[in-house]
Amino acid sequence: MISPKIQDAINAQINAEFWSAYLYLSMGMHFETEGHAGIANWFRIQFKEEQAHAEIFINYLLSRGGRVELKAIDAVPTEWASPLAAFEATLAHEEKVTSLINNIYALAEAEHDYATRGKLDWFVSEQVEEEETAKNLIDRLKLIGDNGLALYMLDQELAARVYNVPAPLANAK
Ligand code: MG
Repeated sequence: MISPKIQDAINAQINAEFWSAYLYLSMGMHFETEGHAGIANWFRIQFKEEQAHAEIFINYLLSRGGRVELKAIDAVPTEWASPLAAFEATLAHEEKVTSLINNIYALAEAEHDYATRGKLDWFVSEQVEEEETAKNLIDRLKLIGDNGLALYMLDQELAARVYNVPAPLANAK
């Protein structure tokens, strides 16, 4: 059985993952409207990944005999000044998510819940990747500046991104 403290923390994280999904879906809609179909595609895949993160935590909580509580998802922004602004907001958000994951990790250690700590290892690595990807796109968008052709090329590249079910969810099925 999972401790009430860990259960509450995981339920809060499930909500945070769904909020992330909502944020990236909103970014996807925004860039679709703005005519950046590739950037929109990138964010819509990000939306699916975040939903998968929530599902991984849901499955884990259920596997430990815990109770899942789906709480209200707060509203998200609906407009960004530029692709650069959206990826800067993405990086800031992912840094926040990293600190949330680290907090649960510390709580799991304090509670001697090593199963939860182990489960979080995948998320710790995933956050390194999320931050690195956002930073990389920010760097490239800064180089691109006002160059429309370069932005078009990046948009084409991001249009090619495909969704892969994250390993902990793919392996669970
Ligand atoms: Mg996530």
